[in-house]
Amino acid sequence: MTDTARPTRIRVDLDALTHNLRVLRAAASVPVMGVVKANAYGHGLVPVARHLQAQGIEQLGVAFLEEGVALRRAGITLPILVMGGIFGPQAAELIREDLEITVSSIDKLRQVEAAAEALGRKATIHLKIDTGMERIGVHSYRAGPFIEAAVASRWCTVKGVYSHLACSDEPDSPMTARQLGRFLEACAHFDRLGVPMPIRHLANSGGVLNFPDTCLDLVRPGIALYGVLPDPDSRTALDLRPVMSLVSQVVYFKVVPAGQPVSYGATWAPKVDTRMVTIPIGYGDGFPRALSSRGEVLVRGVRLPIAGRICMDQFMADLGPGGTGYNEDEVVLIGHQDGQAIRCEDVARAAATIPYEILVGLNTRIPREYL
Ligand code: PLP
Repeated sequence: MTDTARPTRIRVDLDALTHNLRVLRAAASVPVMGVVKANAYGHGLVPVARHLQAQGIEQLGVAFLEEGVALRRAGITLPILVMGGIFGPQAAELIREDLEITVSSIDKLRQVEAAAEALGRKATIHLKIDTGMERIGVHSYRAGPFIEAAVASRWCTVKGVYSHLACSDEPDSPMTARQLGRFLEACAHFDRLGVPMPIRHLANSGGVLNFPDTCLDLVRPGIALYGVLPDPDSRTALDLRPVMSLVSQVVYFKVVPAGQPVSYGATWAPKVDTRMVTIPIGYGDGFPRALSSRGEVLVRGVRLPIAGRICMDQFMADLGPGGTGYNEDEVVLIGHQDGQAIRCEDVARAAATIPYEILVGLNTRIPREYL
C-alpha cells in the first residue's frame, strides 16, 4: 500500500489481543480454542492466527475448510477445528490438510471414515451434539448410538465432543443450564462405554462471560477475544480491550445552508446553516448503510452525527454551525479520540444489529494495520 492510498484503515491492536487471551484464559481456567472464522471477525485471519499461535493458544477454530487451508498455507501448525457442517467430498481434503473435522451425524461419520480409509490416514474428529440450537449435530437424546459408532471407528480418533450455546449472551436465560445438562448427559455415554472422555467443549464468549459452569475442558471464544461483547447491552466485569479501531480522515469540508438536503434521497437537511465534512468510507467497505442519519463519528474529540444517507464510498457528518474540523483531520468511526470513545457495540446499537455483524462486515477493501 502506498502513502497516497485513501486514509481509511482498520487498526488491529495485537497487544490488546494478547491481553484478552490472558483475561479469558484466567476466567475460564482451561485451554482456549481461539475462533478465527470470518477473517478473524474482520481482524485478518492469518495475522491474528499467527499472533495467537505465538502467544501459545492451544487451538484455533474456523467455520470452513477454506479457512483452515488458508491457515495451513500460511504455516500455522496449531490444531485447527473446522466447526461447520462438512460436505462429503471435503472429507479427504480435511484429512490431508490435517484439519480436525466436526462430525455431526452417523452419515457424515461414514463419509469421513471412507475418506480416511482411502487415504490410509486416520481422521481427527469432534462429535457435534445438538442441545438446543437446532443447527448441526445429533440431538443429545439420540447421542448414544452416534457416540458408540464414532468410538468404534477404526479410521476416526474422537478428540472432542461439543455443542453450541444459543442464549449465552443472556445471563438470565434458563436455556444455557438446560443445554449444559443435555450436553453432560450425552457425554455420559463415553463413561457408559468405558472409553476415555474426549475434550468436552461448549462455551462461546457468552459462556465464558456469563456461565462459568459451561467452561468444561476447553472454551471457544470468538468475539470476546477481540474485546467486543456479544450484544450492545451485554455487560462484563472482565477487563476486555477492543482490538479493532476504524479510522479515516476528512476529505472535504463545506458549508451547507439551512434546508439544503444532503446525500441520496434528500432525506435529511440541516435546520440552520451548518458546517459539514465528507469522510471516504461507505457501505462498499461494509460500513453499514443502516447508520444513515443515526450513527456518529469522532472529529477533534467531538461526537458528530452522520448526516443523510451513507453512500457506497463516502458519507457526510455534521460539525454544527460552530463546529471545527477540516480537511485531513482524523476521523474515528470505531475507537478512541481525545478521551471520547465509540465502541463497536455503540455502532451495532445505532445500526440495529449485533456487534458481530459490524466487525465481520468490514471487508477487505479496507487495509488492516497491525500495531
Ligand atoms: N463456537 C462455535 C461453534 C461458533 O459457531 C462460534 C461463533 O459463532 C463460536 C464458538 C464463537 O462464538 P462467540 O464469538 O460468540 O464467542
